[in-house]
Amino acid sequence: MTEPPVLEIRDLHVTFTAHGREIPAVRGVDLTIERGQTLALLGESGSGKSVTAKAVMGLLDQPNARVRCAAARLGGRDLLTMSADELRGLRGSAMTLVFQDALSALNPVLSVGDQLGELFRVHRGLSRRQARARSIELLDLVGIPAAARRVGDYPHQFSGGMRQRILIAMAVALEPDLIIADEPTTALDVTVQAQILELIDRLRRELGTAVLLITHDLGVAAEVSDRVAVMYAGRIVESGQAEELYDLPAHPYTGALLAAVPDLESPASELRAIPGAPPSPADVPPGCSFAPRCDRASELCASTRPPLRLLDTGSSRYAACHHSEEMLHGALA
Ligand code: ADP
Ligand code: MG
Repeated sequence: MTEPPVLEIRDLHVTFTAHGREIPAVRGVDLTIERGQTLALLGESGSGKSVTAKAVMGLLDQPNARVRCAAARLGGRDLLTMSADELRGLRGSAMTLVFQDALSALNPVLSVGDQLGELFRVHRGLSRRQARARSIELLDLVGIPAAARRVGDYPHQFSGGMRQRILIAMAVALEPDLIIADEPTTALDVTVQAQILELIDRLRRELGTAVLLITHDLGVAAEVSDRVAVMYAGRIVESGQAEELYDLPAHPYTGALLAAVPDLESPASELRAIPGAPPSPADVPPGCSFAPRCDRASELCASTRPPLRLLDTGSSRYAACHHSEEMLHGALA
């Protein structure tokens, strides 16, 4: 019997209502991540990455947000039919979220040992003493020097990079099936960024965790991910194996992202300006959302939205573009 994917999301839609307008921030996203795999979700700011992450975590129960989805499964468990209580039980244990701002994610008035320890006491029923011992092990695992001495320190006593490590320790504490890391290194300097990515990658290998790594940094995505999904205006416009997609993009938006990065080897390679701006989610053009910025756009692109479809490359490569074949074959000709 084959193991079900750790995460399986089908046709996710998230629509906000603000000032009497509908804002379709996520418009039909599919995600599949296998055990021990990293999927990078890549895209410019505002493309719907964080909203996708929060919807998967079940964290969008605000009154102005409407979430719908054809299927949502975590390790085969159906998230859609689960009660709010069951879902809360999974959150923080079977699936965890690491975001950018470690300082605001950690409780300033509790020592890091108490925060970590609480997870073990609440979810695993460990005694205070056992929980403290596990906390020290974890701090050690994520590379906090002198963990046994520092377990009683408070978040503000750690550097930004060390705080991010502590957040990751909390995220892996209960050995989740899935970690969603939303721009986990954006606030950190380049050297520390590399260390944090290395840490997430090592934990993935050692613990077999599946990782959804959200980033606007192509370099980051290239370094640690198996597959990449490129998001534009609330939809995935291309996905495939990281190397293949970087070698030969099948969507002009992916091509533009790559062209905007002068050097993939340089870890600071953030997305540079692509001419034009993404559409406002409240005002997406008919046809292909990228058409107004695309130098390949034809009349068909302006009128008819290209669906995300499997390309004939022999690998599992998907793109939503009327010109994908041209892009692939043009490059090979
Ligand atoms: P990113 O890809 O940068 O993470 P987000 O997922 O945060 O983008 O946002 C996608 C779109 O959804 C943005 O246009 C944002 O303005 C909109 N959005 C996010 N949260 C809300 C909200 N609570 N109410 C209204 N619009 C929102
Ligand atoms: Mg975001």
